[in-house]
Amino acid sequence: MSALASLLAAVVVRRRCGSSPAALALVVLVLGAAEWSGARALSMALADLDLQVAASALVLPGVGAVVLGLYCHARAMADRRWTWRWRRHRWLLVEPVLTVAAALSNPWHGLWRSGLRFEGDPALLASSPGPLFHLHTAYSYALLVVGFLVLLRGAARASRAHRARFLWPVVGGLFPTAGNVLGVLVAPDLNVTLTPVFFLVTVATCAWALRHSALPDVLPVALQQVVAAIGDAVAVVDRRQRLVEVNPAAEALLRRLVPDAPQRFVGASLRALGDPLGERPSTCAREERAVAVGRLGLHLDLRTAPLSDDRGACIGWVLVARDVTEALRQREELERQRAEAVAAGEALREQLDLVERLRAELADQAVRDPLTGLANRRRLTGHLADEVPAALAAGLPVSLVMVDVDRFKAVNDTHGHATGDAVLVAVAAVLAEGTGPGELAARFGGEEFVVVLPGVPVREALARAERWRRRCAEVAVEGAGGVLVRATASFGVSGLLGGAHGPNAAGLLLAAADGALYAAKAGGRDRVVSSGVQQAPPLPAPC
Ligand code: GH3
Ligand code: MG
Ligand code: MG
Repeated sequence: MSALASLLAAVVVRRRCGSSPAALALVVLVLGAAEWSGARALSMALADLDLQVAASALVLPGVGAVVLGLYCHARAMADRRWTWRWRRHRWLLVEPVLTVAAALSNPWHGLWRSGLRFEGDPALLASSPGPLFHLHTAYSYALLVVGFLVLLRGAARASRAHRARFLWPVVGGLFPTAGNVLGVLVAPDLNVTLTPVFFLVTVATCAWALRHSALPDVLPVALQQVVAAIGDAVAVVDRRQRLVEVNPAAEALLRRLVPDAPQRFVGASLRALGDPLGERPSTCAREERAVAVGRLGLHLDLRTAPLSDDRGACIGWVLVARDVTEALRQREELERQRAEAVAAGEALREQLDLVERLRAELADQAVRDPLTGLANRRRLTGHLADEVPAALAAGLPVSLVMVDVDRFKAVNDTHGHATGDAVLVAVAAVLAEGTGPGELAARFGGEEFVVVLPGVPVREALARAERWRRRCAEVAVEGAGGVLVRATASFGVSGLLGGAHGPNAAGLLLAAADGALYAAKAGGRDRVVSSGVQQAPPLPAPC
């Protein structure tokens, strides 16, 4: 039964676990267990003592195959590159062959076992183990222990996720050991060898582990393929700076950097190649630096990662170089375009400022008299339309002063038009000096000026007009030939008390001031005349 189960297990393992070295070692183990069980059954079935002795020796190849299979399986599981090599591993066959030879030649030396006899019912072969048997047992256990130690070391090195695939075969390996101890110590008279049966448990755990190790085994290969396929140059150098591994991109890069390099880069030292990647890695720390190869106009981004052994000692470096020439060029181009855009933005902002300044100037010019710098008639009209009704509506009085330079035609005629202009500028300056915020001095036309005084009662307006009159009389401008030219001015003052004066309040003020000015001229000039204060008309009686 055990032999048949083992054969079945061999077929299952062969089919489900593939043909990796670990799987084939497992098949050898299972076939060994089958042979072990089969030979044991055959020996038990024979009645003749000599035949049973011969058949019991047939058990030994199976035992050898089981031990060898488990050892090889452990090695192959722990190291994916491990494979059976006849030259290197043939010594493993020496002991099983010698053991079979020792068992077969036992009648002549008795060192395998002695005291051969039939015992029990049915009569089965019994004997006392000899020194060679003990030697064989010790060797087999030693090989199994080595295999388990290899698996345990693999478990210690593996990440937590992959630890189970090393540990389960060890656990499975405890079963045949227990079976063996049970068979030898606890029930020596049972005459049934349990060990090969328990090895089937080991096989089950090994097969499970094998099935779950496919991806981790493939992974390094896949990574190698990825490294080969990526565009970055990847190279591995040992402690003596010799190239150990280069991917195709690294090979192409090194070929560009060192055109006269040998055919194969692997094995060549960076120093011998003239340090094509600049400074050689020296510390056991990760590094990142830029390498410029001026001769080729090449810019590389070089990253260096140290490789360390189990004890943490630095044994080499992985170098990853990326060609960033194009990226740098694009970045510089972007930087240039950005600077250009900033400069263009700056120029545009300056132009907008200029346009705004010109617009403001134009707007100012549109409402300013170019000769005197006072507000012009247009500005006066707007001011009268906005400020006078607003002040009156707020209950404030509004006064208006109209000014006319006396006998100005004579000034022009006597001293010239330019001197006349200078007189106008001087009079305008007197008026401008005497007006505060919210008030407006404007050139009404020719040699006539108007000052609007919102919030100023007519009495105060009269006093201010008087001051202006005196100041105007004092002003003297230099005419042709250094002659000092003086001029006087006449002032007509009008005023409204706060309240509703209708939509033509400004027109009333202007007309009243004009009338007063006429009176001042008629009165002899160089004087101030008031038109009096006009009250707001009474509100119509409610119906
Ligand atoms: P009155 O005392 O009655 O006001 O006599 P007037 O001579 O001042 O009055 P009139 O209206 O006869 O003369 C005004 C003169 O002002 C006429 C004109 O040539 C002169 N005038 C008007 N605008 C300007 C100007 O911008 N510059 C100069 N120089 N003269 C001007
Ligand atoms: Mg006039
Ligand atoms: Mg005049």
